[in-house]
Amino acid sequence: MKTSSVNLSSVTTYRFGGLCKNFITIDNVDSFSKISEKINSSNTFVLGKGSNIAFADSEYNGYVLQTDFGFINLLNEGNALEVGSSVYLPDLSRYLKEQNLSGGEFLLGIPGSIGGALKMNAGAYGYEIGNNVVEINCYDLDQKQIIKLDSKSINYSYRKSNNLSNKVILSAILKFEKGNPEEISEKMSEFNKIRKKSQPPGIYNAGSVFKNSKDYFAGELIEKTGLKGYSIDNVSVSKKHANFFIAKKGAKALSLYRLVQHVKEKVNDKYGIELEEEIQFIGEFI
Ligand SMILES: Cc1cc2nc3c(=O)[nH]c(=O)nc-3n(C[C@H](O)[C@H](O)[C@H](O)COP(=O)(O)OP(=O)(O)OC[C@H]3O[C@@H](n4cnc5c(N)ncnc54)[C@H](O)[C@@H]3O)c2cc1C
Repeated sequence: MKTSSVNLSSVTTYRFGGLCKNFITIDNVDSFSKISEKINSSNTFVLGKGSNIAFADSEYNGYVLQTDFGFINLLNEGNALEVGSSVYLPDLSRYLKEQNLSGGEFLLGIPGSIGGALKMNAGAYGYEIGNNVVEINCYDLDQKQIIKLDSKSINYSYRKSNNLSNKVILSAILKFEKGNPEEISEKMSEFNKIRKKSQPPGIYNAGSVFKNSKDYFAGELIEKTGLKGYSIDNVSVSKKHANFFIAKKGAKALSLYRLVQHVKEKVNDKYGIELEEEIQFIGEFI
């Protein structure tokens, strides 16, 4: 375990964030006993790879905790894996391909950790990680103990989990189907192509800003509202995909926040629809 001072802009894809003087890295579950009195769900933010997060520009007053569990163990059955929470999703996708396991091809282009993906129920192209969950092993920040949750108690839905908001995900048992290696490779390159064609690269953004719904695609509504390319102080609605908001180097998180409020207001004025953020603003934005 390590506690250090970290500039949060260095640990997120948006590159937003101020200093955090209490940045804890946990690489051993026994370490929780040393900090259990200090940390709880109201003073601690659990960070993965920061690919869905916009930290405020000011100093972060609280603990940021990041796990360092990078293991992948193939279990006896051959199609189940135990995966440490900090495993990078593209690495997991490539590992699954090596094992001839299908169903993880969609993870290749998502620049997050499995911990973050399990919390967000990350998904793409009709797949969602929640469908692969057998069991999640986590530390409960309030009960101060390690517990296991099955997928039923997490009750996954579109980009949503339950029962995980006061937990640090440590590892998970995930299940995939045996697959054909050529088909797996084809699917991976097909998904890669679609992404490259339709989305900006993974730097200075955090993927989709708003959630879609069964009734609309957020990007389409934003585009039809005439906001493609619209910008506020160095943060703009991507010209490539209107549900991606891109920051320029040195831009402020506050500008993103204002742009998000502006887009919500304009879309609401035109369609009477309240867009719901998928990205998370952490810290103070007023
Ligand atoms: C270019 C780009 C493309 C993207 N494409 C997609 C996509 O196709 N589909 C999609 O769903 N998302 C997409 N995303 C968004 C993002 O990558 C995913 O939501 C990802 O799962 C977030 O993982 P993370 O490790 O970065 O989590 P973070 O951004 O660090 O955190 C996200 C949430 O997870 C929680 N969390 C993180 N780690 C843990 C842990 N160990 N224990 C408990 N809680 C934890 C955090 O508290 C927070 O609530 C994209 C992002 C980018 C930049």
